[in-house]
Amino acid sequence: MPLKLDEIDLAMLKSLVKDGRKSFRQISREIKVSTPTVKLHYERLVNIGLIKGVSVDLDFGKLETESGIKLDQIKHKAHKGRRIKLDKGMLVKITCDYCNGPTHNKPSILKVGDQERFFCCPSCKALYKEKYRGRIESLSGK
Ligand SMILES: [Zn+2]
Repeated sequence: MPLKLDEIDLAMLKSLVKDGRKSFRQISREIKVSTPTVKLHYERLVNIGLIKGVSVDLDFGKLETESGIKLDQIKHKAHKGRRIKLDKGMLVKITCDYCNGPTHNKPSILKVGDQERFFCCPSCKALYKEKYRGRIESLSGK
C-alpha cells in the first residue's frame, strides 16, 4: 500500500525543496509543528525512499496523484522547466527492500536501528533478516 503524503509531509517537503540544509528545528518553526514530529515525518520519507538525500532529491517516479496519475507522466507532458506541484494526498510507492517488487498490501516493516525497512511479504522480510543478520544485530546494538 502506498504511503499517503499528509499536510506535514507536504509542508516539510516544500520547505526543504527551497533549502535542503534547514534543520528540523527551523522547519518546525516554519511549518508550526513540533521538532520531533518533523523528524519523524522526515525519517519516514527517507525510509520509504522518497527523500533520497539531504538535498531532497525527490523521485517523482514514485509519486502519483490521488486519482492515480503518475507524476512522471505529468512531467513528460509539462513544458520544459515547469515545476511539478506537490500536493496533499499524493501517494508514494513503496518498493520491497528485498525483492524490489511493489508492496501491494500493508508492507511488512522491519526496524533496523532507527531505520525502517519495508517488504512486500513476510518471506521477503525473513530472507532479508537472514541475509543481513550481522548488520542488523550490530545496528540494533546487540
Ligand atoms: Zn519482496
